[in-house]
Amino acid sequence: MELPKQLIESLASVPGFDKAAFAAVHASGEQVTSIRLNPFKPNQILQSFIAAEVPWCSNGFYLTERPSFTLDPLFHAGAYYVQEASSMFLDHAIQSLLPESRQGLKVLDLCAAPGGKSTLLATLFPDGLVVSNEVIKSRAAVLVENITKWGMPNVVVTNNDPDHFKAFANFFDVIVVDAPCSGSGLFRKDPSAIAEWSEQNVTHCSQRQTRILANILPCLKEGGLLLYSTCSYSIAEDEDIADWLVQEMAMASCVIPTNPQWNIIETQSPNAKAFGYRFYPNRIQGEGFYLAAFQQTKSAAFGKLKEAPLTQLSKTDMALMDHVFSKGSEVKYFKQGEAIRQMPSEWMTSLQALAGSLYIKKAGIEIGAIKGNSLVPSHEWAVSILPKTAYPSITVNLTEARLYLKRANFMPQNAQIGWNWVLYEGQVLGLVKVLPNRINNYYPAEWRILKD
Ligand code: SAM
Repeated sequence: MELPKQLIESLASVPGFDKAAFAAVHASGEQVTSIRLNPFKPNQILQSFIAAEVPWCSNGFYLTERPSFTLDPLFHAGAYYVQEASSMFLDHAIQSLLPESRQGLKVLDLCAAPGGKSTLLATLFPDGLVVSNEVIKSRAAVLVENITKWGMPNVVVTNNDPDHFKAFANFFDVIVVDAPCSGSGLFRKDPSAIAEWSEQNVTHCSQRQTRILANILPCLKEGGLLLYSTCSYSIAEDEDIADWLVQEMAMASCVIPTNPQWNIIETQSPNAKAFGYRFYPNRIQGEGFYLAAFQQTKSAAFGKLKEAPLTQLSKTDMALMDHVFSKGSEVKYFKQGEAIRQMPSEWMTSLQALAGSLYIKKAGIEIGAIKGNSLVPSHEWAVSILPKTAYPSITVNLTEARLYLKRANFMPQNAQIGWNWVLYEGQVLGLVKVLPNRINNYYPAEWRILKD
């Protein structure tokens, strides 16, 4: 693996960079596999693969080998997310910088696809609101899939340019900018990216990073927390951005306490001495990563938020929902076309404001649609963490689970006629409708597994 000479030269004086060890770890081709478990979907199945805990993430684990995730039904059930270990440091940063009770906080993950940080944020802020945004349409679709499988009701997925958020002055308590970058931190995992690296691209990425940040910073409340990260080793995308944030944007740098045994390198930016945390694959079990935290010291002028009204449910539809879920004021329902969706009531005003200016791909959990007098339940509800009321379950074995995920035919034993939740190792994979002589498989066609 030939690393770009200009990159290596540019890193010579960067704290923690050790040229020989860095070259050796890239030459070794060693691959680290890590996952983050979904604490709301507990299961034991990957236990035999678990080698060790990721020290800076409560639900993060290294695996002894890389199993076929595609063929594991629990992967599709959102019981875990395959995530690079260094980037799980966001968990430690948030747990260190915010109080344990994070109820009522509004969080924006601005550059969110495919959803690694957003699924983590949804778990870290179960009583907060997570707005998970991705600008590229095709990537936003993957984001929706991963957020759906993760199953938390407190997430709104949007598909917007950072510039579109300008109406939301002082709106968010936490903003995560996991910025598009030149990607040198992932060379070991993806050597094909080496050919795309250039100094010009580092400069281009650095300029884009300041543009994205300048657009979004007014949306962060005074006292709010910005978490900025990249998977680049270049100072221009890391410490120079930290300098710019402090010197030009009046952000205050935050220290993130770390355990020296973790071997994370704490750096200070050249001018403002802003703290940042560097991950080198020759020092830690993970890939290249940089994260820095800042507090907002200013308050932007409030604008008037445009609110889009949400379509209410008819009395009959509402009565059906009250029958399916126990009646309570903590959730609200609304309609999007034919679909009935549910969200924590606390976030309805925010949702209306978001809908007034942004393109919303998904908000809360879709329960289903009313056809005739009955509910056609949705896959989103099936894989969500919401209670699985209303229908019986059928428990499937591994072979049947894989057939189900391929949308193939299978006839489970003792299934009751009508809708059934499909349960594998305690987790719901989706829905089937059992007819007297066959079943209808309702696994979403676009997500079915194609591999044998
Ligand atoms: N946070 C994601 C995760 O943990 O799974 C990874 C994000 S990736 C490093 C950066 C994302 O920024 C990409 O999905 C990319 O499409 C998006 N992006 C590209 N250009 C952008 C722009 N101008 N503004 C905002 N986001 C952009």
